[in-house]
Amino acid sequence: MLPIPRILVSLTKASSNMAKAPQNIHSKEVIEKIKASRAVRETVDQLGKSVIQGDTNALARAITLIESSHEGDSKQAEELLRMVLPFSGKSVRVGISGVPGAGKSTFIEAFGMHLIRQGKKVAVLAVDPSSEAGKGSILGDKTRMNSLASSELAFIRPSPSSGALGGVARKTREAIFLCEAAGFEYILVETVGVGQSETAVHSMVDFFLLIAIAGAGDELQGIKRGIMEMADLVVVNKSDGDNLPRAKAARQDIQRALHFFPELPSGWIPEAVLASSLESSGMEEIQDVISRFTQHVQTNGYFAEHRKEQSRWWLKETIQHLLNELFFNQEEVKDKLVLTEQQVISQQVSVTEAARQLIQLFRTK
Ligand code: GDP
Repeated sequence: MLPIPRILVSLTKASSNMAKAPQNIHSKEVIEKIKASRAVRETVDQLGKSVIQGDTNALARAITLIESSHEGDSKQAEELLRMVLPFSGKSVRVGISGVPGAGKSTFIEAFGMHLIRQGKKVAVLAVDPSSEAGKGSILGDKTRMNSLASSELAFIRPSPSSGALGGVARKTREAIFLCEAAGFEYILVETVGVGQSETAVHSMVDFFLLIAIAGAGDELQGIKRGIMEMADLVVVNKSDGDNLPRAKAARQDIQRALHFFPELPSGWIPEAVLASSLESSGMEEIQDVISRFTQHVQTNGYFAEHRKEQSRWWLKETIQHLLNELFFNQEEVKDKLVLTEQQVISQQVSVTEAARQLIQLFRTK
């Protein structure tokens, strides 16, 4: 819940003075409205300031606000984002993907702790459109992130609850800005290795890391080609014990495969490295790859260009989403849609013509 703003107290005191004011200046109703809006504004201000000061409890509340689907909250969320945006942008945003069981959570624990030992602040977010509130399939249980979860330098937030991928991803992207404003230097965005959500995560991170494991002879099995093509780094996890020789062979196969993929727009040549999240080995090398990548893209201008491109992409995506909402919620459209559907089904009118007619109706209302 939002903190009880101090202004509420002063307003309550002030209200007794206001009662003496001539009735014809402001009706009681108007005064109530003014009080309510000032109180809300003060609350969002306070929340934003606390986030910027690095208060992680406030950060959690702020993310809850942007995730809220209550109509009244969206204005406050917009206000909050406007406030924190100038303080965001200064982190390295890393997307982390891999098939279930590849070791994403274990890796995040190991890599996160590696960064924290250097005094870095690490935030972990997730995009999992399949998860339901309270029983998310990723990050729902933090048992593999024990040390990270108890570290003061870490912030872990499960995926926003189930919903369309676009909405889940949009909220996670906004959560990135909030985390950055709170001073987090590394933002790790975990996602399930199934395809579409990778594309969404790719559109909000600077660096894309794929966790792979050595399989029984077919190293590339289970990793969709499209996901591999996005990777800036493939980490062959579980390179420990008896598995080490297979992991080494897998790394070579993957490195070879990476050469056959089209060149990345960043000009970066993707790498494959060995790691054991369980033994916490390979973490330094992974950090080094991320640092070299960051330096590479900052030097050639891709870093800034990519973020601009992402903003443009999200603007278009959000416009489409909002238009969609407006369209399907318009009463006239809702009424007409039932009839139009029947006409389309009975082939009295083509889909294109029907759609155009509905859009025409929408635009005239
Ligand atoms: P996720 O589904 O991708 O998040 O995978 P988890 O992190 O939950 O790990 C799945 C299983 O693999 C767990 O039993 C982990 O203990 C194990 N695991 C993860 N990383 C390693 C590793 O580096 N070496 C070994 N031997 N096992 C690992």
